This record gives sequence, C-alpha cells and structure tokens, in this order.
Amino acid sequence: MKEVFSFENNPEKKNEKISLTKFFDSIKQRIIDEISNFLKGSEDPDIREAENRLSKSIDNSKSAGEYYEFLIPHSLKKPDKEYKASQPLKKAPLFESERTLVKEIKKIKKLLIDEEYQEAKKTLSNRNEEFIGEVTEQKKEQEGLTEQYRKFCFQKDNAIIEELVFNDLKGDSNMALAKLVFTNQDGLKLDLNALLPEYSLFAPGEMRKYKAELDKEQAKIIYHPQRADLHSYQGNKNSNGEFACSRSGVVTYGDLTKKGGPLSLLHEISHSWQNIYYDSSGRYDFENFYKKIALGLSLLSAFQREVAQGGWTPEEFEELVRKPQIESLLKEGVEVNLEDYKNLNKDLGPNEFKLKTMSEGVFIIKGEKVSEWVKNYAREERDAWAHAIRVLRFLRRRGIDLEPELKSLNDFKEQIDQNLRTYQDYLDDLIEFSGRGVRFAKNLKKDK
Ligand SMILES: [Zn+2]
Repeated sequence: MKEVFSFENNPEKKNEKISLTKFFDSIKQRIIDEISNFLKGSEDPDIREAENRLSKSIDNSKSAGEYYEFLIPHSLKKPDKEYKASQPLKKAPLFESERTLVKEIKKIKKLLIDEEYQEAKKTLSNRNEEFIGEVTEQKKEQEGLTEQYRKFCFQKDNAIIEELVFNDLKGDSNMALAKLVFTNQDGLKLDLNALLPEYSLFAPGEMRKYKAELDKEQAKIIYHPQRADLHSYQGNKNSNGEFACSRSGVVTYGDLTKKGGPLSLLHEISHSWQNIYYDSSGRYDFENFYKKIALGLSLLSAFQREVAQGGWTPEEFEELVRKPQIESLLKEGVEVNLEDYKNLNKDLGPNEFKLKTMSEGVFIIKGEKVSEWVKNYAREERDAWAHAIRVLRFLRRRGIDLEPELKSLNDFKEQIDQNLRTYQDYLDDLIEFSGRGVRFAKNLKKDK
C-alpha cells in the first residue's frame, strides 16, 4: 500500500494523471483480489483447474491446426504454394465464452456467499449430456432469408461431440455450416474448427446434398443443390452424410459417433490442407480427364453408328466429328484408333487402357498421362490417411482420444483399407490398365 501512495505523491508524476489512475486501479484490484483470496484461503483449486483445462484446450486445438500446416509440406509431394493465413488465426474462438465465464466467476467471487459461489462454479465443469436442441429461427422478410440454428450433443465412448449447425434458407436453396467441439471425460476440449485452414469450414453432409442431372443440350452433368431445412436434420449420429472435401474447402461429415467417423473427418481435413498447398488435385485432374475423354469417345462411337445407319455421310462424320474429337483427345494425350478402339478381344499394349463409359460401353485407347494422374490420385489419398493418423496420435499424446476403439495397427488398417477399396472399386469401374494397373494399396483385394 505504501508504494501506491508514494507514487501518488511523486511530484514528477503528477501530470500523468490518466496513466496513474489506471495504475492505481490495477494495484487496487490486485490488493482486493489478494485480500479476498486470503479470506477464502489460498487461490481456489477448482478455478485453477478450470483455467488450466481451458488453456490446455485452447493450446491443443491451436497446436493440432499448426501440426496439419506443418505436415502437408513434409509429405513426399512438395507443395506448389506457401500457406499464409491473411490474419493471425483466431484459433479456438469457440472457447471465448468459457474464458469470459472463468473471469466473471473470479470477479464476482467476493460478492457471493459461499453457497452461491459453489453454485456458480458448477457452470465451469458443466459437461453436456446427449441431446438434440430445438431449432431457433430468425426470418428476414426483406431479404427473403431464414436463419436457423440448432445444437446437438452426442456421446462417443466417454466423450461428447457437440455439433452447432447454422443454416440459411433462401428460395429453394440453403447454405449450412457447422462448428464441432469434442470434449473428453475430463472436460478437456478440442475445437475441431481450429484444425482447418483459413476459409475452410464444416457442414453436415446431409445438409449439402446435390442432385445430378444430365443436361442433354450442353452434353454435361449439372449438379443442383437440394434444399435442406434444419428442422429435418437430426444431427450427425446415425446420419448418412458423406465425408468429403470440396475444392472450395467445405468439409462435410456423416456419423461422427461411429468407429472411424472422426478418423474420416481428420482425413477430409487433410484434403482441405492439400487444397491449400497444391495447385492441382490428383482426384480432380483424373475426374476432369475422364469426363472429357468419355464424352469424346462416346460422341465418336454414337456418330459412327449414325454413319453406319445412313443418317450421316462419311464426309460429314469426318468433318464435324472425327477431326475435332480426335484433335481434342490428342490434346489430352490420348490416341484413338477408330479401326479397333472397340475391339475388346485385343490384348492391351504398353500405355493402353480400357475406358468404361455409361452409354457407349468400353473403349481401348492409348495415353501416357493417365496412369500418372491415377497415381497422383492414389498418393494423395494415402497421404491424407497418413496425416489423419499422425494428427490422431498427436492429440492422443495430449489427452484427447478421438478414436478410443482404434488401438492396434490392424484396427487402423481395417478402417483405411475399407476406404481405399471404395476408391479402387470406383476407379475400376471407370478404367482398366494392362497388368495390375494402379492400386490404391498393396494387397488390396477386389471386393467383387
Ligand atoms: Zn480422400
């Protein structure tokens, strides 16, 4: 106390009234805190624990995000770009309210009688039980917009997964996004959003669905978003939403409470970081390639039939279809021999492969780039699983276990093989190489 007053009396400091007042206030507050702490005994261990838990939760969330940021440039494939967030990331913003709560409780401590204080403290250790919240809704008539919000809490093993969903309804479309928080049995939390790169976000798979429609005039497939109302969404538990990551960085999820769900989420988060670090994506490159080639071949085949049936003259076919199509296929690095491109009895030569189309069957074509693209696609998938497992272990070491049921190496292998097999089947439905072709994983047996 003496020190404070001697400052106040110091003539040189007299004109610095404002800063001095501040200084005085802070000293006063400290003394009050010390006195009340003294009266209550030493610093409250419950508060101290809550503070520790909170700072550990924030640190875990932040570090896991930084770990992803670190991992991708350290994969075998070197990044094309650098990642630099436009602003220092406000990691784990979901814990702001808890931080405020701890502060408030500390502040009001001296104003409360002991029972009240004990009651107030309970809010700190409050762990949500399983529940499905009501939809809160706000209509903005002028904009023709309805804003919806709903909270879900589901148990996974001994932990709780909180899912906060925000949904904007407008006309016949909607825009959903979600915040996900994982809380372990000790109340330690993980803000999963902090694991995403800037501008990426989560959304329930069931609320971001598209319907594919064939536009015959434009000869392409158009995807229409399907309107999803939050009233009909019952949370991720038992949902059949898809785990996926779009090129624009939307990570969708399905059931997070089932074994392998959180691992799949971590896998998709890996893809969102790959989006940031790489200019191209193995999967998208491959799919774009496939779409172009399949369309070109299908046109050639359909119009050849027209010629055979006398609908078109060979000259018309040559000028309007064969020439332009063969040229555009060549641009994609694909050679086509119209004499025997549908002769499936032929053995596949080097760089030859079979391409399967929906409407015109199977073609044999030649091209070098294709196996490269498929290899990139496979490598990208394997990398994304490897990163997911690393992050899962990283979090385990810090007391957060997202997948307690996955223990042995075999448990992980089983989960991953199941997924790789899906890509393999998908690929095998589109393309077939000579020999073994490209496999997504060694020893992966075909499921059919
Ligand atoms: Zn993937």
